[in-house]
Amino acid sequence: PSPLGPTPKLVIDLERLQQLPKDKAGPLARYAATIQSQRGDYNGKVLSIRQEDLRSLAVIYDKSPNELTEELITWGVLDPEARRAVESF
Ligand code: C2E
Ligand code: C2E
Ligand code: C2E
Repeated sequence: PSPLGPTPKLVIDLERLQQLPKDKAGPLARYAATIQSQRGDYNGKVLSIRQEDLRSLAVIYDKSPNELTEELITWGVLDPEARRAVESF
């Protein structure tokens, strides 16, 4: 086990996501909305997503999972802790 504790979750900040320009955030916003709909989870300020979903999103954004993670951290949509969640990729 990591000395830093368990692998952190990928937690999307849905309020921050809403503030971003659509040309950047559109695909992620649609993906998150689909997950919310599948779960019936509409009232959260944040949404925990699967590691596997970050891989899919990286394909959508034509980036590596690490590159996309850095971008989402820059946008303020992911916490910097999320870096540790994609290290295992
Ligand atoms: P599923 O993958 O067959 O999962 C069925 C149920 O198992 C989920 O119902 C949830 O109660 C539980 N479950 C599965 N994986 C996890 C997990 O990693 N953590 C937790 N806490 N529970 C888990 P739920 O939430 O109503 O989701 C219904 C269906 O919606 C899921 O069926 C899946 O097809 C889709 N879905 C929901 N959330 C996600 C997601 O974050 N990513 C993806 N790719 N699909 C999702
Ligand atoms: P946590 O995972 O650190 O989540 C803290 C809080 O962030 C949650 O408080 C909830 O308000 C919000 N949150 C995180 N992910 C989501 C999400 O995908 N949707 C929504 N709507 N809110 C989210 P909450 O619900 O009181 O849960 C407290 C703690 O209970 C969680 O801390 C976690 O440790 C545990 N927990 C809750 N639901 C699940 C679950 O489905 N699976 C697992 N393994 N733990 C859960
Ligand atoms: P979590 O619920 O704390 O689950 C942590 C990890 O345990 C998941 O990481 C997954 O590897 C495993 N896990 C938990 N429940 C199941 C399950 O029913 N089936 C399988 N095959 N594996 C399970 P992962 O996939 O990266 O998901 C991260 C977080 O995203 C979950 O933390 C949960 O908060 C959320 N999540 C993922 N899928 C679903 C879902 O279908 N429904 C809901 N409500 N939340 C989900």
